[in-house]
Amino acid sequence: MPHDTPLIATIVAGLGLAFVFGALANRFRIPPLVGYLVAGVLVGPNTPGFVADAGLANELAEIGVILLMFGVGLHFSLKDLLSVRAIAVPGAIVQIGFATLLGVGLAWLLGWSLGAGLVFGLALSVASTVVLLRALQERRLIETERGRIAVGWLIVEDLAMVLALVLLPALAGVLGGQQPVDDHASLLSLPASYGIWGVVGVTLAKVAAFVVVMLVVGRRVIPWILHYVAHTGSRELFRLSVLAIALGVAFGAAKLFGVSLALGAFFAGMIMSESELSHRAAEESLPLRDAFSVLFFVSVGMLFDPFSLISNGLPILATLAIIVVGKSLAAFVIVIAFRYPIATALMISASLAQIGEFSFILAELGVGLKLLPEQGRDLILAGAILSILLNPLMFLIVDWMKPWLEKRAGKAAPVEESRPIGPATEPGQVASVLAARGEEDGPPPKTALAGHSILIGYGRVGSLVGAALKEAALPFLVIEDADKMLAKLRDDGVETVAGNAANADVFSAANPEGAKRLILAIPNAFEAGQIVLRARAANPAINVIARAHSDAEVEHLKGLGADTVIMGEREIARGIVEVVAGKATVPIEPAIEVKPQPA
Ligand code: AMP
Repeated sequence: MPHDTPLIATIVAGLGLAFVFGALANRFRIPPLVGYLVAGVLVGPNTPGFVADAGLANELAEIGVILLMFGVGLHFSLKDLLSVRAIAVPGAIVQIGFATLLGVGLAWLLGWSLGAGLVFGLALSVASTVVLLRALQERRLIETERGRIAVGWLIVEDLAMVLALVLLPALAGVLGGQQPVDDHASLLSLPASYGIWGVVGVTLAKVAAFVVVMLVVGRRVIPWILHYVAHTGSRELFRLSVLAIALGVAFGAAKLFGVSLALGAFFAGMIMSESELSHRAAEESLPLRDAFSVLFFVSVGMLFDPFSLISNGLPILATLAIIVVGKSLAAFVIVIAFRYPIATALMISASLAQIGEFSFILAELGVGLKLLPEQGRDLILAGAILSILLNPLMFLIVDWMKPWLEKRAGKAAPVEESRPIGPATEPGQVASVLAARGEEDGPPPKTALAGHSILIGYGRVGSLVGAALKEAALPFLVIEDADKMLAKLRDDGVETVAGNAANADVFSAANPEGAKRLILAIPNAFEAGQIVLRARAANPAINVIARAHSDAEVEHLKGLGADTVIMGEREIARGIVEVVAGKATVPIEPAIEVKPQPA
């Protein structure tokens, strides 16, 4: 007689049915995720037939979340994270506030308490990591500027929810609920004697402690382990080390520091991304990541009761409206207020117009604390399923609205021009910048230039090089992928190819075959290396000048065929020495005053 194997049954039923319905969905040109959700509903307790173990399915889904966030961390540096904080922090906070207000409003209409409204609203305000990352990956947006903003925004939401999960049990009494009794809640809560601010303080201190431990210890230990394992030459051990580190750090972060699993995994990935082996690490975790993120959708489907759509119709519609319309509008207005292009605002709105795993956890906690009525949990579940189903449609709607909105913004331009200090990107320019990007509409057109220089990156380094080329009347064009820099390029009247230079179509639009010189002014030596290889293949005679930040990078780039590599730190030292010796040449930035040292 076969013994009882619920874990195997859940994995087999989940993956098997997800495959069948995913393939069916694909056949009908519907996103496969719809098929995964349907598979979940079928193996869930609300439909007849086989019922999988919901608890196990949930835990399996968590592994998917860990691996996804780990993958994102691998593509993210601390610098990337800090570079979007100016918009991600206020954006996420304002959006959470707005969605919570709407939630409280709906709760009031339904006759719930204020506490119930707060939990409900918070649950509606936080987007699902899995859904957002899947959407960005499918559209290859993760490594664009708008993708970075969306991910940064998500991380701030994640942090806010960690705080909410810890605070709710402490505040339950005040809000008209019950102090926690079950294990899960009491694990998260702290003694009541701490007081509200005490609890906030301890929580923040724990998050900070985790970050410090990762930056100080993790940063040394993790690369060391990877290097050690890579030198053993065993592929299997390397894969194992990557998995062990991702899962181990995430789990440790959750158990020891009360940080969410997703956040822990993100940090593990981010630390690993500093190591040169990170690209291999990323590839090793791909297949598992895809399999487990499918189980996430199956586990969500399992929670859904299709019959609630009939019994709860109107409140469900209202919930969905808050998630899809309310949150999107808030995000759109905030991003536009920060003077980003319309396309960026639309993309961010669409990607955040859904809710998922964190909302379920909050809802469960709320019901457990007797704050949220059971109906609230049903509404959140239905809202999650429907908003996840509608998410691909949101991206379509956004694509369809873009030209229309841009035209309207273009008409408004003359009014904007009369303002004394214009925004970084005038609405009138936006349309042409976007047209220049040609992001979603196939490869960019090829330049007519020949015998020119190709300058890659127009940031702190590239923009100065560009100015010098212009001064010397040398023909050149720039490849750049950040929206803000593209607007600046347009202001400067420089020919531009928009997009990531490591992309084959983008690079060949710059006519490397006919170019005389390639100047790499981007900080990432890995990407630069790829581009050097591509350039050498297209044009053996091209003169390549590259930028580096360490001796190892200099060697790496020279090895791949760069003619000259300028090392940033060495040049900084040279500048300092010149100032010390009183021989400073005229500084590039007129704002810096150089005073010769008295002899
Ligand atoms: P900075 O470090 O300030 O010189 O900025 C580097 C600039 O290069 C930024 O504006 C980036 O958007 C841009 N950049 C970095 N990588 C790429 C790439 N692969 N393709 C195009 N532009 C890039």
